[in-house]
Amino acid sequence: MLRLFPLLLPLLLCTCGPAQENTPTAPRTGPPNVVIIYMDDMGFGDLSSYGHPNIQTPNVDRLAREGQRWTSFYTASSVCSPSRGALLTGRYPIRIGLAGPQKRVFFPDSKGGLPTEEITIAEMLQSEGYATACIGKWHLGHLPEYLPTRQGFDYYFGIPYSNDMDGIKWGLDYLLGPMDTSLWKVPLLENETEIQRPANQFTITKRYTEKAVEFITGQRDSPFFLYLPHSMVHTPLFASEAFQGKSPRGRFGDAMAEVDWSVGEITKALEELGLAENTLIIFSSDNGPWLSMREHGGSAGLLKDGKGTTWEGGMRVPGIFYQPGSVAPGTITDMGSTLDLLPTLAAWTGAQAPTDRILDGFDLSAVLRERAPSPRDHMLFYRKDELFAARRGDYKAHFITATCYRPDNMREVHATPLLYHLHHDPSEVYDKAVEHPEVLAEIQEMVDNHSRTVVRVEAEMDRR
Ligand code: MG
Repeated sequence: MLRLFPLLLPLLLCTCGPAQENTPTAPRTGPPNVVIIYMDDMGFGDLSSYGHPNIQTPNVDRLAREGQRWTSFYTASSVCSPSRGALLTGRYPIRIGLAGPQKRVFFPDSKGGLPTEEITIAEMLQSEGYATACIGKWHLGHLPEYLPTRQGFDYYFGIPYSNDMDGIKWGLDYLLGPMDTSLWKVPLLENETEIQRPANQFTITKRYTEKAVEFITGQRDSPFFLYLPHSMVHTPLFASEAFQGKSPRGRFGDAMAEVDWSVGEITKALEELGLAENTLIIFSSDNGPWLSMREHGGSAGLLKDGKGTTWEGGMRVPGIFYQPGSVAPGTITDMGSTLDLLPTLAAWTGAQAPTDRILDGFDLSAVLRERAPSPRDHMLFYRKDELFAARRGDYKAHFITATCYRPDNMREVHATPLLYHLHHDPSEVYDKAVEHPEVLAEIQEMVDNHSRTVVRVEAEMDRR
């Protein structure tokens, strides 16, 4: 009946209604659509709504202003592949084969991928009758058996790994040099077919956007899930001609502006189709800024360090939720995580989250609906297969630290963990370990309890 309704409506309007021009499409009721827009390497400080002084992101800012803007929102990893796997499954990378002793992400010679026995948000929603699409960077295994089409997505359009991979040579001269899309042989896939190699990165944000709008328009009459992990703003930075040289923030700002335009196009399409009020849009980033890319990398704002680290700058990212009439607007300072998306979306859509395995996510739907306190009271910070840090309430303890994504990362094991009060000291400067041994003991107990639940599995990224 629900599916017939949109077909019948124009007939009813034709027989008894006034002229049809400018009549908005009637809102579709029923299970809400879900759109997840996931940035690559965009830091906590790279949106104007999160304090950047000259990057302009009016379309994202509107979602933040009219929806919820979370300020303690975490990814489950500080690098691409494990972060994406955790988002899609609601499980820490250590449980799903995405945390090993060697490689941190998948490379073009990797043999592994997100294990197909894991249940993704796409599979969960697909089994409820949702149409599902992944448009963008996958990075959870590029061999056919691991592509999005085998992980719950009806449709895939995008690059299978990072835009700096498969290069003729890897180094700052190339990454930060003149924009030349032929330096990286990264393929562009549609479903399981390679349609362009190298992918034209100048137009990639534009083409993702066109495909996304096309998918939304085609699915207007039935519920859909769109997962849109942008390739930008991962170095090398590209933007289409209309955006080149326009931002005072340089190439990074140009790429940000184009993604912001993309968010505007998607929002506009949903509004024109009468779907805005029945669509939850979630906007976040896979990890913090890639600081070793100099001014081509983003910014973590007032947070310490960036991508690749378990400091706040590596894993605390913007988190925005928007659904007019359903998400109560406001700024949320409680903790949330991309790990929480699967259970939250199960509650939001009426789908069934998996019950046969440990989920690390919490259902945030009451926070979204009525700004209830967040059920998430802790967060664990892994680097590869080691637990480096843990947050419980206001405090975060670091057992091991290392700096950014470089070989000389100055790894340090702390006999007495470092302890920071993240509300008083979001930049992690003033160590409170000596003053609060009882807090350290509580965090240690929490970590021990967690570690007892972890069953080590083969690291997929280390399979060659
Ligand atoms: Mg990334």
